[in-house]
Amino acid sequence: MPLEAGLLEILACPACHAPLREEGDELHCTGDAECGLVYPVRDGIPVLLVDEARRPS
Ligand SMILES: [Zn+2]
Repeated sequence: MPLEAGLLEILACPACHAPLREEGDELHCTGDAECGLVYPVRDGIPVLLVDEARRPS
């Protein structure tokens, strides 16, 4: 399910405040490699919690 138009533009990584990029059903931090966290989207709702994010493998 794609995110609501315009929603991505107002979202930012809670860890480093970089913009996010939608990829599949996840949101990838576009910040530098030191962050790069991947946030899940559950039922169309981005879960922007560092505790819920994963590190890309
Ligand atoms: Zn980040």
